[in-house]
Amino acid sequence: MLNEEIKIEKPPAIMNAKVAELIRYHLKKEKIVYILEESDNSTIYMLKSIKRDSQTYNVVNENGTWTCDCPAFKYRRRFGKELCKHIDFIQVLIKEEIPIESI
Ligand SMILES: [Zn+2]
Repeated sequence: MLNEEIKIEKPPAIMNAKVAELIRYHLKKEKIVYILEESDNSTIYMLKSIKRDSQTYNVVNENGTWTCDCPAFKYRRRFGKELCKHIDFIQVLIKEEIPIESI
């Protein structure tokens, strides 16, 4: 089971409005996150932007370390903050046991 394979070292950050918006969109409009690749110690997710049609982001969980290739993640990392709304969003789905499909 996917949920058991992924270990979350940190609990999701406090759910803010942007994360809630992604969750609503994913559950009510269209799925915006899929698993691209999965191995024993890493999972790569592809996430579609809900603002820009052709934009996608890759979120990686490697041994419990989460990274995202969005600009906000790169910017925040310089200040020692690691998460972005995409990572928060996927962590909430996992925590709530909402299945994520593979493509
Ligand atoms: Zn991100």
